[in-house]
This record gives sequence, structure tokens and C-alpha cells, in this order.
Amino acid sequence: MPFGNAYFIIGNAYAGKSTLARLLAEKHGGILCGENWHDSYPEPLDAEAFPGLCYTRDLKDWREFIRRAPEAYKAWIDETARECEILELRMLPELCAQGRPVFVDTNISVETLKTIAAPGHVLIMLADPDVSVRRFFERPDAEKQFLYRLLLEEPDPAAAMENYRKGLMLINSQENFDRLLSAGFPVLLRDETRTAEETLALAERIFGLEDCIRLRPHHGMCFRFYEGKGYSAEFTDHMGGVIRALSERPDTPVRLTCSADVVCEHCPNNVGGICQSADKVMRYDAAVLDACGFRDGDELTYADFAARVKERILDAGLRRGICGDCEWDAICAKHRREP
Ligand code: SF4
Repeated sequence: MPFGNAYFIIGNAYAGKSTLARLLAEKHGGILCGENWHDSYPEPLDAEAFPGLCYTRDLKDWREFIRRAPEAYKAWIDETARECEILELRMLPELCAQGRPVFVDTNISVETLKTIAAPGHVLIMLADPDVSVRRFFERPDAEKQFLYRLLLEEPDPAAAMENYRKGLMLINSQENFDRLLSAGFPVLLRDETRTAEETLALAERIFGLEDCIRLRPHHGMCFRFYEGKGYSAEFTDHMGGVIRALSERPDTPVRLTCSADVVCEHCPNNVGGICQSADKVMRYDAAVLDACGFRDGDELTYADFAARVKERILDAGLRRGICGDCEWDAICAKHRREP
């Protein structure tokens, strides 16, 4: 699953997507793809292929932007969303390959997300359509405040604002709200009485980030023959503690993840959430998933995970073929005869 470590947040305006994506990335050591993150697409855009994005790129006078008819504004938004999706799908694989969770504030379509997102990795955030429109400018983003100032500078600010609001109403329509509400993904409705931390906790539950222990698949092999040696004293203390806790509570839910996990948290090779031996350990992870018939993102009890690793890899004599070039290989090799 190429986007197995990506978490997608979609929805309408003023629902809190940007804030949530930022909080998730901060708490889970993830990569933040915030609002308009496609702006960092590294290549110049062709105006024929990307007319929506190039319209604002090439715009000389932003008064033209705010003076458009509501229908033209809505059509531009739809076209731009389509173009952004193309760019984001080009950029995401490289980000996901870094191995950290990627939190994406996006307008990728529901239809596309149904084909690319891992199960449980899409959240829809919705504000009442009336709130999306009425409070559109009540946010500190520089871009929105710039447009707001422009509207106030118009010869007839009230009429200019009314025209702009009509566009917002088309974009944040009840029809769009209902379509997202029934899209088949979990939904968080904006609730002014809920704190940002409470929203974060709800999202973590939806994404399965809170009560599962994240575990790299290949650590299922490391745990088996671990004897207290490792990359640093802090690392070995921590890894020993993780193994003890899981052994004492084998019914603990774990989520298999081909990115930094609970063990990596205290590893000196973990630099900003990225393993310094990423190529090697991701090869190990992929091989364990393949041998065990698991997929990145699968959730199961630790007992079931450990049993499958034992049966399909260790007892089957496959371990050395998977991680025989590991610097700790000799420790595991002495525990059983392997081909
Ligand atoms: S070496 Fe890499 S995969 Fe292994 S614990 Fe350290 S950071 Fe994680």
C-alpha cells in the first residue's frame, strides 16, 4: 500500500482540518502536509494542463480574483481541487517513503481516497455550511486576511462581500455537506464546545493512533531473541521494557507500521522520525509482511502477530534470508539452526 502511512483529512471550510493535521503531526512525529501544501510542487506548471493553479500564479491584480461571479469562483475551486489532487498524488509517494506518518490536509476527492487510502486513514471534518460561509474570514491565515482586506477596499465593500459570500455558499453548499456526510468515511462535525485536544483525541481514535502500539513488522523477529544488547543504554532499557510489557499483556493491540514505531522512539538511529538505516529496515519490514501475509497498517493482538512471525518465519527457517545482513544477526543465529 503506497500510502499506508498517510492519514487524509478532508471536509469543508472552517471545520478545523488545518489545526487537526498540525496537532496530529506534532504529537505523532509525522510529516505535515498543511493547507495548500501542493504549492511546494518542485516543477513549473503548464498553464494548459493546470489552468486553475496557473490562474492565481499568473494573476496580476487580485481584485480580479475577488470580483469574479460566484459561479466562476465555484468552477475555479472545482478545477483547482482536481489539479491539486494530481500534484499531491505525485508528491505523496516520496513523503510516504520517508517512513513517518504523513498527515494530509487535502481536497483529494472521496472517489480517489477510496482507492488509495489505507483502511481507517480518511477523516472528514465538517462545519455547518452556514458557519463555513459566515466565519470564512475569521481565521488568521495570511491568504484569507489578504482577500478580506481587498474586499474592504472595494468601492462598495458590502456588495463585494456579498458577491464573494455567494461564491462561498456555492462551494460550501448543503449539497456538498450532505455528499461528504454520506461518503462512507468517519465524520467529525465542528463543535464549538469541544477543545482542540478533545478533537485530537477523537481523531486519534478514528485513525487508530491512540490505543494501538505501533510496531515495525521486523521487530517481531528482533523481540524473539533479544538479550539486552542494542544501540545505547537508553535504547536497550526501552526496548526491554516494550518486550516485557507486550509479553505480560499479549492481548495488547498492535498496528503494523513500516515507519518509526514504539521501539524506534528511543533509538539513536532515529533522526527526526527517520531511521538512518531506512533502506535496510524497510526491506526487512516488507519481507516480514510478505512472509506473514500481513499488510502495512494491519491491526491485531501482539499474541497473534508474534505467533505468525514464529510460525511463518522463525520456525520455517526464513529469518536469516530476511535479516541476515543485520549487525545483530549472530545473536539470533545462535538460537536455532537455520539454512
Ligand atoms: S535501527 Fe531504525 S528501525 Fe531499528 S530501532 Fe533504530 S530507528 Fe527503529
